[in-house]
Amino acid sequence: MSGDVAKSSSCERVKGGSVIVKDGEIIGRGFNSPPGNIENQKRCLNSKKDYDAKVTDKTCCIHAEERAMFDALRNNSEKIPGSRIYFTRLGSNGEIEFSKEPYCTICSKMALDLGIKEFVLYHEKGICSYGLEEYNELSFNYLPK
Ligand SMILES: [Zn+2]
Ligand SMILES: [Zn+2]
Repeated sequence: MSGDVAKSSSCERVKGGSVIVKDGEIIGRGFNSPPGNIENQKRCLNSKKDYDAKVTDKTCCIHAEERAMFDALRNNSEKIPGSRIYFTRLGSNGEIEFSKEPYCTICSKMALDLGIKEFVLYHEKGICSYGLEEYNELSFNYLPK
């Protein structure tokens, strides 16, 4: 279902979709795109190497998971604690791709702070569910393979 949401992404780098589920109900959903969907805020084709090290977040678009969390905060904030967040990425051909090991510390901190219980990713080895503290630790300790 997060794969379907990803189809709406307008990012030119990676299309991502995310849903947040609590007790079988989707309480938030999002896809990545420029902030405010403002076309001239699009930075997808910029190289991350051109930004200074101090620039906190070099990713071009608002992340799908951030959007899903904003959506849940707007519409179902009381249901967020104990919920589960799913993320799916699509390749350029629109097919679901395996996710990398956790590395986004923006989303890991935000989800942990909100009291989301589990983060679910689709890896080559299968669908993996992480507790949020573990997910945050793994994200900060990410090493490229
Ligand atoms: Zn983008
Ligand atoms: Zn993120």
